[in-house]
Amino acid sequence: MQRLNNYINGTWVKSQGSDYLNVDNPATMEVLAEVPNGGKEDVVVAIEAASKAFPAWRNTPAHQRIQYLFKLKMLLEEAREDIAKTITLECGKTYGESQGEMQRAIENVEMACGIPALLQGQFSEDIAKGIDEFMIRQPLGVCACIAPFNFPGMIPFWFLPYAIACGNTFIVKPSEKVPLTMQKVFELIDQLDLPNGVINMVHGAKESVDTLLEHPEVKAISFVGSTAIARYVYAKAAQHGKRVQAQGGAKNPIIVLPDAELDTTAQIVADSVYGCAGQRCLAASMVVTVGEHRPITEKILELTESRVTGFGLAEGVAMGPVITPESKDRIHALIEEGVTEGAKLVLDGRNPKVSGYEKGNFIAPTILEDVPLGGKIASTEIFGPVMSLIHLDSIEEAIELVNSGNYGNMACLFTSSGSAARQFRHDAWAGNIGINIGVAAPMAEFPFSGWKDSFFGDLHGQGRHAVEFFTQTKVVVERWFKTWERKF
Ligand code: NAD
Repeated sequence: MQRLNNYINGTWVKSQGSDYLNVDNPATMEVLAEVPNGGKEDVVVAIEAASKAFPAWRNTPAHQRIQYLFKLKMLLEEAREDIAKTITLECGKTYGESQGEMQRAIENVEMACGIPALLQGQFSEDIAKGIDEFMIRQPLGVCACIAPFNFPGMIPFWFLPYAIACGNTFIVKPSEKVPLTMQKVFELIDQLDLPNGVINMVHGAKESVDTLLEHPEVKAISFVGSTAIARYVYAKAAQHGKRVQAQGGAKNPIIVLPDAELDTTAQIVADSVYGCAGQRCLAASMVVTVGEHRPITEKILELTESRVTGFGLAEGVAMGPVITPESKDRIHALIEEGVTEGAKLVLDGRNPKVSGYEKGNFIAPTILEDVPLGGKIASTEIFGPVMSLIHLDSIEEAIELVNSGNYGNMACLFTSSGSAARQFRHDAWAGNIGINIGVAAPMAEFPFSGWKDSFFGDLHGQGRHAVEFFTQTKVVVERWFKTWERKF
């Protein structure tokens, strides 16, 4: 059985702890590897290595720093299929979804390659006679990211390339459920010939996270995960004087107006709900129809019933398993609760037969219709392949429903009316808006803009926000007296 190591100071290092956790294939529950449960000792060594590497790295010109990123981009492209297979094996999503995930990771590396321009400051000549003032951006020091299980290849790349391009050193703490993907990525990072300690990886769970949050040498924390832990990380890291960006959970609504194009809308809605088995922070969870709903409801049902659930590397499979048996039980319990609350179980995906994969954590597409507003199902992040169908009479009611929720990661509208679209994008209280789009995932040059309980902090991941997050501004007011200098 493969036992994973940490990557610290440019080399693979065995964990100092003796506790290891199983990394399971969620389609078979076969153990793929063992990951260290980590702990304080491992993390402190990584922080010290990153801290030691910082002075020389910050003094390396940005143009030289990005040469490593150009090389990383090429290596990631060459290894994309291999890494995608690993994502499918440990995370469950389909091979196509895993490949798409790696594409998003690579795009963030490309974006960070533009850092010499993105880092440029501002200059004002003669703010008073003979006095100039300028602002420059400088790195913070050691930064760290704590990642969730659902995008093991992409999410660290919302932060890592920007952090190091800006002159910081970095530590990745992958999810203990899916550490193999970053293991593959770090095999590529190992080939970059970066100075030791610039990029490090430590495994583990709570104790590793707490050490990163408390250690004075760590200056900034980027977290992505559930809202409860995001809130905890935000508070604790701030208490220890750090910058924090903490992205949390979601409960994303899609509103379908009666003038939406029927066939494409139904297809996109089903893809949004069931892609990655609903384990996407931008998965639609509530589908809200406005006005006459029978044609769209019937079409969605037809497309949902025909989706094939199975092992993500198998031909023709549209949806893989959920991550753990505990997740499966939690989702089953929520479906049951929906029925108890009064929703109609139009499609029951519990315990599907997936031949050859009887031990897998499979739930087939499920639909709960007429989910009561104000109940638990309408407000809880299910994070599984369950659609809540809700029928309302007006766009105003639908927007009110969107805005009444605790989360604000994404809200989408399907319509052929420009004025309805404008009303929605102006009034919907969410950070990522889709108009006739089912997964409004921002490209690398835009911030991943969650709101409300989906985000704690000021600056989001990706793009210019990441550049601001990973730098501190320094303002210089400067005057030179001719009489002191001119000796010629
Ligand atoms: P999680 O919160 O359980 O874990 C995230 C990370 O936190 C992991 O690295 C884990 O080791 C660590 N962690 C877990 N418990 C901890 C504790 N008590 N103290 C300190 N650290 C702890 O999340 P998950 O189940 O891995 O991921 C799914 C969640 O992530 C969903 O809620 C999803 O919506 C959210 N998510 C959000 C976004 C976004 O951009 N907003 C993106 C992806 C996933």
